[in-house]
Amino acid sequence: MRAVAWGWMRGPSKVGLRARQTLIGGVLPPGAMTAEVVDIHGARRVASVGGGAWIAVLNEEVDGRSSPACFRDAGGVLVRPPLPADWSRRPIEDVDDPCPACGERGWEEVIPMDGSRGMRGGESGAMEPMPLAVCRSCGHEEPVGAWATMKLTTSPTPEARRRQADAMRARLRERRRRALSDVRFPIYVAAGRPAKLSGWGGGEEGVEEVTVGGAKRPEADGQA
Ligand SMILES: [Zn+2]
Repeated sequence: MRAVAWGWMRGPSKVGLRARQTLIGGVLPPGAMTAEVVDIHGARRVASVGGGAWIAVLNEEVDGRSSPACFRDAGGVLVRPPLPADWSRRPIEDVDDPCPACGERGWEEVIPMDGSRGMRGGESGAMEPMPLAVCRSCGHEEPVGAWATMKLTTSPTPEARRRQADAMRARLRERRRRALSDVRFPIYVAAGRPAKLSGWGGGEEGVEEVTVGGAKRPEADGQA
């Protein structure tokens, strides 16, 4: 059996407790003292820790959606779970969407050398490991199987890179859209102006703060 660098192969485990209540837990990465997990509504919960593991209760069903989690050391600094040294990494330059786990921006593409993150059919028809987008700050992993055209053995073309970035942004924005579907307060934007969602924040009770960046009105250009 192949040895792995760290026991957390597929992220945390979930168990349904009762209607809209899920128990979630996993192994703390080396050096981590605390864990935070974000539910499907964007609410951030501080997990209970002990015995090298963390556990929390989320007010949601077990429905297959992932729950972003991040870990910190005793000083509050983010701890990135280690990945095997032979997994290739490459910065993703043109995606600056915030990480759903820690809120920081900055991603890298990681190509596993085993099937621990899932497999997909490659261009040649053979199965190959599923690539990941990994947060550079906290190590949160997003599967990017939609990047089906990426070749693992050669450098991707600019077009392939653009498609990868588009797929990545779409995935992160879909997660934010789902969280906002549960917002319990009205969001006001200036009439006649296109509005762009630029951020959101959650607490114990779900999304509590939304940042809307208004784009410039087209007719404002060239007028006194
Ligand atoms: Zn992160």
